[in-house]
Amino acid sequence: MIPLRLKVDTDATEPYVARLRSFEGTSPRPDVLHPHDVTLDFVDGEASHYSGATGSLRVFGVDPSELDGDTMLVVPTRKTAHRLIRASSRHNTLLVTERCDQICVMCSQPPKKHHVDMFPLFETAVLLAPEHSTIGLSGGEPTLYKAKLFEFLRRTMAARPDVHFHILTNGQHFDRSDLPVLRDLDLTRVLWGIPVYSSDSAVHDDIVGKPGAFEQLRPNLALLCQVGARIELRTVLTKPNAPGLLDLAKLVTTALPFVEVWAIMQLENIGYGRKNWSTLFFDSSTGFDQIARALDIAVARGVRTKLYNFPLCTVPRAYQSYAPSTISDWKRSYVEECAACSLRQECGGFFEWHPKTHGYGRFGIA
Ligand code: SF4
Repeated sequence: MIPLRLKVDTDATEPYVARLRSFEGTSPRPDVLHPHDVTLDFVDGEASHYSGATGSLRVFGVDPSELDGDTMLVVPTRKTAHRLIRASSRHNTLLVTERCDQICVMCSQPPKKHHVDMFPLFETAVLLAPEHSTIGLSGGEPTLYKAKLFEFLRRTMAARPDVHFHILTNGQHFDRSDLPVLRDLDLTRVLWGIPVYSSDSAVHDDIVGKPGAFEQLRPNLALLCQVGARIELRTVLTKPNAPGLLDLAKLVTTALPFVEVWAIMQLENIGYGRKNWSTLFFDSSTGFDQIARALDIAVARGVRTKLYNFPLCTVPRAYQSYAPSTISDWKRSYVEECAACSLRQECGGFFEWHPKTHGYGRFGIA
């Protein structure tokens, strides 16, 4: 797995954001340096030594060529640096908060009570991102702090017209008072990933652990539609909601046809997903008929539909074009059977933490 947290040492005392620059064999021109850049001075047997306006920084255990252009959050008291934005990756996500008002049965990042406001540090990080990046924002629930979130978006989007955002939100906290602020943002550059688990409000509310969540979601999706927001509906497949997938497809295509994409997603074995695995994991390889019917109707009615996090060989050949590789590079892995597989280049494989006995009844290339 690609390490996201590195051991460092620094002469600073407060957390700060820095971008690592190597300029191997050349001297950096001052005009290409940002005040938050630190440049590589030398490497010895112990560490890579950087310096810049933010102070000196020693990074342990990783070749500097692998970090060139990465933007780090350095936390001096813990002697750690978090790779907020990796220059070579399309999968960079900033964790806005660990608080949430839902408690989904499969939550991969179970909520915590405390919150630390990271928006000022994240703003610097976005300004340092490579050109034309898409930055993920997730939680917890980012819109619990929506005034700060909107201001963060307004400022970073003005400063970096090339950057796009993908925001994961439970969609519970929008209201009509947000319309002017939302209309002021360039919403063509924001994709809102919003979960809907069932057309049956009781099933949806049970999964998210919040009575009334479904009733709140419907008008909020309409409100986002009203301002022209781009929406990625996300449905994690589980034993409780898989039987209702066809009914959900009917709801999506009749009541929510404005969504940009409907993502049907396989379960992640981490957090509550791991704790509740035996009651949640739905073997989509042997139960694909239910998915196929939902997918057929959604596609026939013009809703772009995708299968996220499905190992390719667990999907019948006729539907494999709907299953792009979606698992982020730093948490993607493959099982033994994948070594000789001809589909490996296109296949997203498994989450690193998926059980090695993967649980799919139909698996491998016939
Ligand atoms: S065998 Fe492995 S690499 Fe091949 S399609 Fe299946 S999961 Fe993907």
